[in-house]
Amino acid sequence: ASIASMPTEVPGSNRVQDRTQAAPAAPRDGFENTPDTDPSLAANRAWGDGIRSRMESSTLGDRTVRTHTLSDAAALDTVIAEAVAAGEAWRALGAAGRAEILHRAGDVLEARRADLLEVMGSEAGKVLEQGDPEVSEAIDFAHYYAESAKRAENIAGAEHRPVGLTVVTPPWNFPVAIPAGSTLAALAAGSPVVIKPAAQAARSGAVMVEALWEAGVPREVLQYVQLEERELGTQLISHPAVERVILTGGYETAELFRSFRPDLPLLAETSGKNAIIVTPSADLDLAAKDVAYSAFGHAGQKCSAASLVILVGTVAESERFRRQLVDAVGSYKVGAPSDGSSRIGPLIAPAEGKLLHALTTLEPGENWVMKPQKLDDEGQYWRPGIRSGVAAGSPFHLTEYFGPVLGIMTAKTLEEATALVNAIDYGLTSGLHSLDEDEVAQWLATVQAGNLYVNRGTTGAIVQRQPFGGWKKAAVGAGTKAGGPSYLIGLSDWVDAPIAA
Ligand code: GLU
Repeated sequence: ASIASMPTEVPGSNRVQDRTQAAPAAPRDGFENTPDTDPSLAANRAWGDGIRSRMESSTLGDRTVRTHTLSDAAALDTVIAEAVAAGEAWRALGAAGRAEILHRAGDVLEARRADLLEVMGSEAGKVLEQGDPEVSEAIDFAHYYAESAKRAENIAGAEHRPVGLTVVTPPWNFPVAIPAGSTLAALAAGSPVVIKPAAQAARSGAVMVEALWEAGVPREVLQYVQLEERELGTQLISHPAVERVILTGGYETAELFRSFRPDLPLLAETSGKNAIIVTPSADLDLAAKDVAYSAFGHAGQKCSAASLVILVGTVAESERFRRQLVDAVGSYKVGAPSDGSSRIGPLIAPAEGKLLHALTTLEPGENWVMKPQKLDDEGQYWRPGIRSGVAAGSPFHLTEYFGPVLGIMTAKTLEEATALVNAIDYGLTSGLHSLDEDEVAQWLATVQAGNLYVNRGTTGAIVQRQPFGGWKKAAVGAGTKAGGPSYLIGLSDWVDAPIAA
């Protein structure tokens, strides 16, 4: 059945399938019937001119944010003991009391939007187009988890097993939304938190944490630490008082954490190698725009980024789509985040190793349809690259590169294209551009990934509307999805183990 006459922005077409858990028998948190576009979500607000004036109102200047650098194991013990002790009163507030503070945190984050944009730009290379929705995501997490906590409490009755200390270890690529989301979820669930931001994004994390303190989260309950030595990281993760670790980072980091402490309760969103399939029934203009943005937004430094586009049948045979894609990508300005019109900012870990290899060499049979180009001596700024002729089973097909390079693969049928996707070890996001209902149904039933997007790019999941989390090597641990109805349940023992009074 062709649905080619439908508008290209098909309402509801970008809902993701929550593949990591079975659908609950009865509505669990009241969100099941929520319309797709909830105007109260900050992420749904348009990005546009307002942003410039928000940037100008930044008050951060040269102010040094409060940081807490630990240099020895005794200091780490003190921080942990303080957090554990403070957790008692935090839990005793109850979900409603904590929710009130979390809602206020959402408001303070909104009030500090300009500060956050400035620090994310200067420290983590976030251009405005990327940073603004990221702040919105952090705000949405605050309000969403506040309400989730109240609902979770209602499901399990009045008394619950207290949640222990949570350690949050976020990445640098989403320097505000990911630390905020993990921290707010744990706080909502009643847990005290020790957060150790990524070294490249320590200041962004600190500005976010300060907003939460200002909203009323006690400093003892939310401890922000930087560690002087790597060894202290190992001690933090393996500390017996730590009941949960929320990690967003590479698959290898999750493995490393497990090696420190095999019984570690870990909630980890790890790596991705994601593809968008384009079939002959697709709206090719829309597909080119979505592939370009998914591949090169934040210079491709997202676990959710599209690293492959798989062209099916006549789309593969003709040059039209490749030309459209090259045109779309060619229009992206590469430049510093301080320039509001930059669309591709710097690489935060300058290209080296695997990424540098992917940017500078081709495998047999491949060719550049757009040659990547280094624009500065340090190798931080790159005009993106697009290679064609990527073969099944080749390094480019299977390896995560986390940078501004996209590979084109081809397939005769949708089935063959989906098999290429499923051959990849990771299953985080996956995209299909097709206006044919039967193709969509076939793909949804067979593709192996946590977040599935139809006629939409693969990045920028929206809290509540598109809970975010992966399959296979893209997730380690409890496998519940951030910004979704079961995330807090994955963080606590509320449902399983009510306390006897
Ligand atoms: N949640 C982000 C998105 O949907 C990706 C997070 C990540 O790259 O770690 O684009």
